[in-house]
Amino acid sequence: LRIVFLACSSWVSNPYLGGVSIAIVRDSGFALLDCGPKAPERIALCGLDPCSLDFVLVTHMHGDHVLGLPTLIMWRRFRCPSKTTVVVGAKPVIDSVRKLLELVGCPQHREVELVPISVGEETEIMGYRLTLFEARHSIYSTVVRLCVEGSCIAYSSDTAPCSAIAEASRGCSVLIHEASGTDPELMHRIGHSTPLDAIEAAAASGVKRLVLMHPGLEPISVPMRFSDLTIVVPHACYEISS
Ligand SMILES: [Zn+2]
Repeated sequence: LRIVFLACSSWVSNPYLGGVSIAIVRDSGFALLDCGPKAPERIALCGLDPCSLDFVLVTHMHGDHVLGLPTLIMWRRFRCPSKTTVVVGAKPVIDSVRKLLELVGCPQHREVELVPISVGEETEIMGYRLTLFEARHSIYSTVVRLCVEGSCIAYSSDTAPCSAIAEASRGCSVLIHEASGTDPELMHRIGHSTPLDAIEAAAASGVKRLVLMHPGLEPISVPMRFSDLTIVVPHACYEISS
């Protein structure tokens, strides 16, 4: 199982990152966790075949997580017309996806299958076992647990610290966690997390690999509690002075 980060930042961020989309790749195809604006082009740039897509899971309706979806559906309509694009998510999210596709004139007849799934219950889709948990965000959002081919992956999407992360991460090999900024008071107020929140969530759930993503204009930095050292995770074009 491979995890390919097609796009891994927030709405307003470095132009080379741009939104969120994570491909969970198995031999026979791949699932997309969220579909930010750059996802359609990145699928090809990152060496994936858009016709091998199993489904798209949308965690919430913020544009950096969903605005690539109409384009991806249109790509597949022309490149693999026999294949339906399956879109999965919690019911309130799927209701909003339907409205979005109507608003932008994206056909939804045979091209798209919208699949609402219950929050808090495991659902099997094409061999992937999915569980969604409600997140703590500025709009309705969901934390994801995805298990396939013997591996489980947890994905925070956008959320302030919440108990759902530990629940979703139980026994997982990887936790993909947002780290939108370093000021905890500000981040929690707007429904986001800091790098330290993510590290604490990983430590609490026993996950051994933590991926930090979803920075804004500034790259992710991890302030250390026991020294003056700051660890920076730079992205393309970010500059520091010596
Ligand atoms: Zn969001």
